[in-house]
Amino acid sequence: MTTDNNDVQVNFDTFGFKKDIAKGVREAGFRMPSPIQEQAIPIVMKGSDVIARAQTGTGKTAAFGLPSMNNIKGGRGVEILIIAPTRELASQVSEEMFRLGRYAGVKTVAVYGGQSISRQVEMIQRGANVVTATPGRLLDHLRSKRFRNFAPSVVVLDEADEMLDMGFLEDIEAIFKFLPEERQTLLFSATMPPAIRKLANKILKTPVSIDVTPKEVTTNVDIAQHYYVIEEREREEAMVRLIDTESPGKSIVFCRTKREADNLSTVLVSRGYSARALHGDMEQRQRNETIASFKKGQSDMLVATDVAARGLDITDVTHVFNYHIPFNPESYIHRIGRTGRAGKKGVAITLVTPLEFKELSRIMKVSGAPIKYREVPSIHEVKQNYMDDLFARLKDRDFDDEILDMVQGLSGEMDVTSLACKALSLLLDDQKVAGPNRIGFSSGAVEKMMHRFKSQYGGRKQYGGQKRYGGNKRPGGGGYGKGGYRGRGGSGGRRK
Ligand code: ADP
Ligand code: MG
Repeated sequence: MTTDNNDVQVNFDTFGFKKDIAKGVREAGFRMPSPIQEQAIPIVMKGSDVIARAQTGTGKTAAFGLPSMNNIKGGRGVEILIIAPTRELASQVSEEMFRLGRYAGVKTVAVYGGQSISRQVEMIQRGANVVTATPGRLLDHLRSKRFRNFAPSVVVLDEADEMLDMGFLEDIEAIFKFLPEERQTLLFSATMPPAIRKLANKILKTPVSIDVTPKEVTTNVDIAQHYYVIEEREREEAMVRLIDTESPGKSIVFCRTKREADNLSTVLVSRGYSARALHGDMEQRQRNETIASFKKGQSDMLVATDVAARGLDITDVTHVFNYHIPFNPESYIHRIGRTGRAGKKGVAITLVTPLEFKELSRIMKVSGAPIKYREVPSIHEVKQNYMDDLFARLKDRDFDDEILDMVQGLSGEMDVTSLACKALSLLLDDQKVAGPNRIGFSSGAVEKMMHRFKSQYGGRKQYGGQKRYGGNKRPGGGGYGKGGYRGRGGSGGRRK
């Protein structure tokens, strides 16, 4: 992957990093900076405040991490404070900072809830330079005045729109009251809703704006997006049928609530899939373990809530399923951004009931996502597809003499037609599809419902248009997921 700039290839040498930072970049295997890195690194290095918009998976961590660590003076307590919305993101960012800064002797600490308070304080007092924290725990520390001489010179607000979604805005404002006036502030976000711009006005001083969101592309073209219209009671069956017909590799199934995630993962496991639930009620250790086993391909499916799965950088997710449509367009964009990373193809599938048309059409309008309708395949169609595929493969299939001998031997006992029929039905046994023949509404019925829905709610006014969300905020172009730089994991996705 290259980044062209007037036909001159920009590489990491252009930035003039210190030797030890450059070594971290090299060891991480980064060759070419991503667009956000190319733009943000020189500006951050100069010491300016920055407000930057770039999608998930585009390398924002290194975009703020490398130049800020390059500027570290050393030996003077915490110099860089990064605020991240979830524990997972905080530990992910902290690890990336460590990886990139280790040769420069940078000491990193992640600070979040559910860990010993005294241990966190001790780690920080022992000379951490970079602290990555979630808002709640950080504010708790600051209010209780547990840190001595806490005066970071660089403060980063990472994934700011997610903080907003999670209701952390007040905490963030409160945190900034404890921070020194004299500081460099950097705000990174995948989308820029008005509330985030307002916050930026309060905490940034004459910031440089960077926006690498592709303007024309409505959505990441590498993600095929479909929706299926079903009845409420059909959700589980529809999920199972779609998993069976799509044969995903690694996939993430999004649920609205923790309970739903627990229930659905139990159902999927009982149906023979290697699914694991991931949500905020689980202990941190359990969550880490679940994510690790998914990353390694020991389980194929994460059944997750939005919060728990936010921003996770997981290689080679082939499918994202929205078991329930998300509440807002931003979540939709974040969810489907888990697949189609680093130029790989991905599929995003959303189940909706007729009562959810309103949410669906709001997502389509606001995000510009081209989500296309599809019918849930019937058992008959699944079989037919399988047969078509089988015949295509049979035609080109070679066999050796041994097989020929066996068939000729058998033909003495059984006529060849019934032999072929029996062999085929044996093959079909392995391809058992569960559930009722038809699931969900036919395309004719959906067309009628959509028509009625549009004449009832139609018109642009209804959804507040794009303006409310600050114009184009679209996921686009290839991300920098780990996958693009390594081989494909290939967990091969069928029932185990
Ligand atoms: P974001 O915060 O924008 O979602 P991350 O900072 O988490 O993205 O980066 C996503 C992945 O891409 C990480 O695994 C990171 O190590 C990798 N990455 C970042 N920059 C580069 C680069 N220039 N070349 C190769 N890989 C990169
Ligand atoms: Mg990030």
